[in-house]
Amino acid sequence: MNILVIDDSKLMRKMVGAIIAAEGNTPHAASGAERALKILDKITIDLIFMDVEMPKMNGFELTRLIREKKQSWIPIIFLTASTDDTHLTEGIESGGDDYMMKPINSVVVAAKIKAMARIVNMKKELDTANRRLLQLSNVDALTGIMNRRGFNESLKRDWKNHTREQKEISMVFLDIDNFKAFNDNYGHQRGDECLKQFSSVINSQLKRPMDTLARYGGEEFVILLPNTALDGAALIGVNIIDALAREKIPHQFSPVAPYLTASMGITSSRFSAENETILIQQADQAVYKAKMQGRNRYSVYEPKLQEEGIGKLINLSAI
Ligand code: GH3
Ligand code: MG
Ligand code: MG
Ligand code: MG
Repeated sequence: MNILVIDDSKLMRKMVGAIIAAEGNTPHAASGAERALKILDKITIDLIFMDVEMPKMNGFELTRLIREKKQSWIPIIFLTASTDDTHLTEGIESGGDDYMMKPINSVVVAAKIKAMARIVNMKKELDTANRRLLQLSNVDALTGIMNRRGFNESLKRDWKNHTREQKEISMVFLDIDNFKAFNDNYGHQRGDECLKQFSSVINSQLKRPMDTLARYGGEEFVILLPNTALDGAALIGVNIIDALAREKIPHQFSPVAPYLTASMGITSSRFSAENETILIQQADQAVYKAKMQGRNRYSVYEPKLQEEGIGKLINLSAI
């Protein structure tokens, strides 16, 4: 462990440092707040021994500051000459974890280091497990690509970057054609296999590390393309149609083609979506259009589609 001793007394720094080293740990020393904060910025410290009585900023104040600044928890043990119990309370309330009286005893310091090492290790294991859980909760169990939850997070982040950098961001929404017929005729298990194969075909069409493919739900997928203009997204649409035609996942029950196809809706930030949710709605609307036009194709969002639809209805009723 990297252990930091913060004490204005050189003798104390030396003594505690020697015990730390004797226990097989690496000691670091600071005579006050300024130096301590610098070390904490540079080195990953696992445990702090903190003197309470120090000029300029005392140990309690420095502890509060460290707790505010540092995202991850570091155990802090106070070293104090005071025997006052209210002092101990203040120490714990300021964010400290344990308390030792001066003069220090090397056996007690060594034991406290061992006890804290156990807690530090448990904390590390917990952090790793939490990171892994978070990762798992963003991954779709069937296809191994990102799930809707992960996608929503990516979308929020990429949309924020888009508004800051003012670079066009595009979205391709995909919906497999006649997938219900696939399931009904080939069975759910083959349906699942098909979804896996489909997602790997789509994935192979994405070349940039920033591109995100996610399973939005069921047989619906979505691609997010940061820093990509609409024509770039349309090119991906063409490539996906070609790739599926080459892959030829058999679907003899599809009226569209003898193999699996998809309909896509494409949109981008150029249609002035107010937020990322509107972007999804636009892409969804474009998928609907691709379905209506015969499936196995992509369609681009049209801002005036609704008004045109109303126009057509009026024309029809006039006939
Ligand atoms: P359309 O071309 O209009 O999109 O028709 P569709 O049949 O693809 O659409 P619909 O929404 O009617 O049916 C989607 C089907 O997708 C329903 C269900 O059988 C299948 N499906 C959804 N999620 C899964 C899944 O996780 N596994 C499997 N095997 N099938 C799924
Ligand atoms: Mg002191
Ligand atoms: Mg669907
Ligand atoms: Mg479908």
